[in-house]
Amino acid sequence: MENEKPSWMHHCELCLACLHFCPVAAIQLEPKTKKRGRYKNPSVTIADMKKQRGE
Ligand code: SF4
Repeated sequence: MENEKPSWMHHCELCLACLHFCPVAAIQLEPKTKKRGRYKNPSVTIADMKKQRGE
C-alpha cells in the first residue's frame, strides 16, 4: 500500500485473483467491474495461493 492505495510494483500479472477474492469487492479493474459478480473457484483457497507463492 502507498498512500492508502494498492501498489502492484509493476509485478501484476492480471490473474484477477485479488479482485475475485476481496470480500468487500473493493478492487476493480476499471469501472466496468463495479457491478459485475465475483467468482471463486471452490477448490482453491487463499492458503493454496500463498503456498504457491512460497509464503
Ligand atoms: S492477485 Fe493477480 S491481479 Fe491481483 S495483483 Fe496479484 S497478480 Fe495482479
